[in-house]
Amino acid sequence: MSDLINLKELTQTDFEQLMVSWGQAPFRARQVQKWLFKGATEFNAMTDIGKEVRHLLQEKSYISQLALLARRRSADGSEKFSFGLSDGEVIESVLIPENDHYTLCLSSQVGCAQGCRFCLTGRRGLTRNLSPAEIINQVLAARSLVGKRQAISNLVFMGMGEPLDNFANLVKALTIILAPWGLNFSYRRVTVSTVGLAPLIPALGHAIRVNLAVSLNAPNDALRSQLMPVNRKYPLAQIIEACRAFPLPPHRRITFCYVLLQGINDTPSHARELSRLLQGFRAKINLIPFNPDSCLPFKRPTPEAVLAFQDILIQKHYTTLIRESRGADISAACGQLAGEVQRDIPP
Ligand code: SF4
Repeated sequence: MSDLINLKELTQTDFEQLMVSWGQAPFRARQVQKWLFKGATEFNAMTDIGKEVRHLLQEKSYISQLALLARRRSADGSEKFSFGLSDGEVIESVLIPENDHYTLCLSSQVGCAQGCRFCLTGRRGLTRNLSPAEIINQVLAARSLVGKRQAISNLVFMGMGEPLDNFANLVKALTIILAPWGLNFSYRRVTVSTVGLAPLIPALGHAIRVNLAVSLNAPNDALRSQLMPVNRKYPLAQIIEACRAFPLPPHRRITFCYVLLQGINDTPSHARELSRLLQGFRAKINLIPFNPDSCLPFKRPTPEAVLAFQDILIQKHYTTLIRESRGADISAACGQLAGEVQRDIPP
């Protein structure tokens, strides 16, 4: 397949140029893209495309897809999809039902190099980056699995991988996800989450308009460096400066995520320190009580500790939500994606 063109990775302009180079009218590109991003999986389904063009497409290009390996539904309604890639690797995406729509949590890499201590993906290390088409295909596959039940209208890059470690492919995938000729998502409903690769935070905002979430998890460098090795390279002061340089659209806020770990980062003094750290920010804080996993040495905080932590931040006028990570019973919650489909197949 190496000489064939992966059509889902072409922008509209690239596709039009390709058509012209094949001696075809540029509008054919728009017709084909319409089919591709509606989820067509074969050229023969493209009924308004002439035989000659379909034949050319078949000969010179292909429609990439993901193979569904497993699908598990949590008691809380969320679903985890395990997808096989063409080289045999496995990634996971999580579908989260909200009141009137779905949010899809996407992976950006196979594994992850960042090694956050509270995360199973981090423990397995990085295998490779996902291509733009592998990112886009998670959305298309989930759409076809959901059918017409409800729209998938929100995307969050909080699955396997650190999205900014795969910057070029991420930006290309986002370009297609947001384009009216592509998947046509509103930028207000697409969020990229990072552990804080400081130089790439403003770079992301200048490359494409999306929401930013930063996974903080500790209010000082000593503790953060213990939990997240990335902090040794990019300490909190650099991350905060990078967030201030992020070109935030009007009326938008940066989301700061904070996984609460019992006895580690969940005390009132941590909450006060966090509030000082974020002073002056247009910030929203999401507190995520940790979901215990037998492979990880952390405990879930008590409900009282979570509420006390939230209260302190609310008193300091931060919008602070407690977000229950969904799908813990199917290893689909934050930090539980391991891409090991064997682990998830029921006996
Ligand atoms: Fe990687 Fe995110 Fe896990 Fe950290 S929390 S190891 S960045 S997947």
